[in-house]
Parts: sequence; C-alpha cells; structure tokens
Amino acid sequence: MSVELPEASILAGQLNEELPGKRIAACDLRDYERMQKIGFINKDLKDYDRLVDGVIESAVSRGNTILVKLDNGMNMVITPEYGGAVLYHASSESLPNKYHLKVDFDDETALTVRLTSMGVISAVEDSGLLDSYVYRRDFSEKASPMEEKFTFERFTELVSDRRRQLKQVLVGKDAVLVGLSNSAFQDVIYRAGLHPKRRASELSDVERRALFDAINQLIGERLRLGGKDKFQDIYGRQGRYAPVMGPNMKERDCPACGTPIEKINHGGGQVYLCPKCQK
Ligand SMILES: [Zn+2]
Repeated sequence: MSVELPEASILAGQLNEELPGKRIAACDLRDYERMQKIGFINKDLKDYDRLVDGVIESAVSRGNTILVKLDNGMNMVITPEYGGAVLYHASSESLPNKYHLKVDFDDETALTVRLTSMGVISAVEDSGLLDSYVYRRDFSEKASPMEEKFTFERFTELVSDRRRQLKQVLVGKDAVLVGLSNSAFQDVIYRAGLHPKRRASELSDVERRALFDAINQLIGERLRLGGKDKFQDIYGRQGRYAPVMGPNMKERDCPACGTPIEKINHGGGQVYLCPKCQK
C-alpha cells in the first residue's frame, strides 16, 4: 500500500486540521533498530527528544513527503511511500500496539506512525532539511501535478526531449515530476493507452495530452475517493479508489477490450498492462 502524492496530500491536510497548536509532551520509538540501520529513522535517537515541548505549527505535503513543522525549529519528515500508517488518536483508548513512532500531545491526543516497507520517519531541524533525501527530492523545483503551474504546456516542455522510457520519466529519482510511484504509473499509462516501453520524446501531441490528462484524472479521483483502497487516512478510514490497472488485475481481462492482462518486468518492478489497448 504505497502512499503516493494524493494519499500524502490527504494525510497532510488532515494533520493540518488536527495538530496545529498542540504541544508535544513525549515521543516514543518502538521496534526501530532495523529501520534505523537502513536509514529510515534517525541514527541518533536524541533527535526525537528535541521534538518534545515543540508546538505544531503546520503540516504540508509535496510529492510523497509530509512535513510537520514545529515552533522550536524542529520538523517531522514523514514519508511512508512504500507502505505504512499515520494515525491520529483522539484518546489513548485507540492506541495501537504496533508503531515505530508515537507522539503524545499535552491534551492527551496522540499520533502514531508505522512503516510497513521503505519509507522515512525523521526528526530534522530546519537547517538540516536539505540533508533529508526525501525532503530534498519532493520539496524541490521539480513539477508537482497538484500545483496550478502544472499545465499541459509545462508538461510538454518537461517530457518532449526525454528519450527515455515513460517509467523513468514519470517515476523515481530521474522523474520530471514528484509524487508518482509504480502503482500510479501502471494506472496512468493504461488510461492513456500507452505501452510502458514507449519513449517520452516519441509521443504524439495527442498521446502526450492523453498522458497528461490521465495523471490529472488519477490524482483527482484518488483525492475524491479518500485515496486508493488499502490506504488508511489518519482516522483509520479506508480509501475507496480501486486501481484501473495493477496487481489487482492479475489473471483478469481488460475491462475495455476483453484481452487477458499481461505482466512484464519493467524498470525495476512489475507492470501490468493490456497488450491491445496500450500501444
Ligand atoms: Zn484492452
């Protein structure tokens, strides 16, 4: 259950409704050793102590990353991009046993964060934000499909001289935009009728337009439906967006043309596609 741009935006929006003004009373880390070794959690746990006594100012997101800002020069950078749960607890009764970070507020509410795959939960001072890989990647100059300046003209400028295959152009560290992972990628290129091995620079105007529209439609629908299914918002409510293409289509037929869906290994992951609709 990856948290991509729409889901990160839902989480940040809800956190920004609930948390500003709350003072952090305590932080607790659990089962963090393995996470710490691979860099998902700060090496020095004292960094989390520096969150205590801070008052939450705001929560915002860009790309897959959520930034929770405190009034004492500290921040929480939360990026559960390959899976995890960010949950708000109005009372201690709903606290889960499993979490990596628990933040208690002085009004007896709490926040818990748990990663189920690759991601980041870090405590970072303002001057250290650019040392955070996910912050630097997502709060960057790269285009975000959630922003107004992401127009078709801008998208055309970004992709038309990219000779690489679509996945590298849309997903990962060399992508021209932030926030899309393999899940969104499969959905978007199916909607646009494009084969994943197409090169961005070879798309016709009509195809490029279809791709641009598919990105915006996917994001709009996920936001409207509370995120994709299996995603939970901060209140534990499940998203209702079922991907139009992805592992959920395994051994099924294309809803548009009836052709059996194929799976290929592509760009460091698996991509499901309709060999007839996606050219
Ligand atoms: Zn088809």
